[in-house]
Amino acid sequence: MARVYNFSAGPAVLPEEVLKEAAEEMLDYKGTGMSVMEMSHRSKAFQQIIDEAEQDIRELMNIPNNYKVLFLQGGASQQFAAIPMNLKKNGKAAYIITGQWAKKAAAEAEKYLEVQRVASSADKTFSYIPDCSDLDIDDDADYVYICENNTIYGTKYHTLPNTKGHTLVADVSSCFLSEPVDVEKYGVIYGGVQKNVGPAGVVIAIIREDLIPEKVDISVPTMLTWKTQADANSLYNTPPCYGIYICGKVFKWIKKMGGLDAMKKHNEKKAKILYDFLDKSKLFKGTVVPEDRSLMNVPFVTGNEELDAKFVAEAKAAGLENLKGHRTVGGMRASIYNAMPIEGVQALVEFMEKFEKENA
Ligand SMILES: *Cc1c(COP(=O)(O)O)cnc(C)c1O
Repeated sequence: MARVYNFSAGPAVLPEEVLKEAAEEMLDYKGTGMSVMEMSHRSKAFQQIIDEAEQDIRELMNIPNNYKVLFLQGGASQQFAAIPMNLKKNGKAAYIITGQWAKKAAAEAEKYLEVQRVASSADKTFSYIPDCSDLDIDDDADYVYICENNTIYGTKYHTLPNTKGHTLVADVSSCFLSEPVDVEKYGVIYGGVQKNVGPAGVVIAIIREDLIPEKVDISVPTMLTWKTQADANSLYNTPPCYGIYICGKVFKWIKKMGGLDAMKKHNEKKAKILYDFLDKSKLFKGTVVPEDRSLMNVPFVTGNEELDAKFVAEAKAAGLENLKGHRTVGGMRASIYNAMPIEGVQALVEFMEKFEKENA
């Protein structure tokens, strides 16, 4: 059975090379006589895997030494709680609401501190990023929170908000390692890896050391205390070993591809093919304002629900999978993460052209 072009928003496509390598090492990882799934997380072999993974992501993102890199569990959603639990000082935080994930993060944070929703694009179904150049942020806010790439709505911050000196916390689940990042602009960068980096089950959190409190409220679970995880170098308990191993392979793949600069060029090239087509199509329309478009998630519609469904079904039959839009938005969405080859996007656009002719 041939592989399809998989446009899933997450879990999502991984580099074929990585999957093949993992398959080759499945029964006997480098002469250990066992799979990475079967070995102790305290073994030398696994220590080397996690150490190299950390070193490689540090290199790729140019992460300064005063930032910790943690490999955690619980999905991005668990950090929605861990963030306020660990960053709470004055008991107040500013959230910018650009879609479902920011909304959920704000709702979760509200259990632990006062949330001020300082901007939102809800008025136009999150089809744009609000102006964040002069937000009304209280001086004593503990942090400013954004979801940097909105997986469901297909928007991305191309300029970070002016936080007025406050710590910026960003959920980068769906744009992790898609382009170069200036880590120093953030206090916390985190994301679930299942969109652009690896298999579900791993969350990577990059946290400036001074933001990791020595003490948190006694009610904060040990596992959600960043200091526990940081002091134990992500090995406080059994980490998601196999997932970390695959992430490590993806890091090496990105390095081989030329790093994040090359990734960005590759992603821009792919996205341009699709957006250029959407801009001239008479049938399909992109749903996001051009200046805030994501390179990773591209939602589009025909304006006719039946036709949308027909498109998704026929695309699937043609080997273009998982193009159905999020249940809250409808229409279609093509997620074209790092590992989606340019041929996949070309095949999608050719199919859309054909579909447009047939359904004119
Ligand atoms: C998928 C996604 C999440 C949720 O991730 P889980 O790992 O399922 O908790 C959060 N934020 C963004 C931006 C996402 O794309």
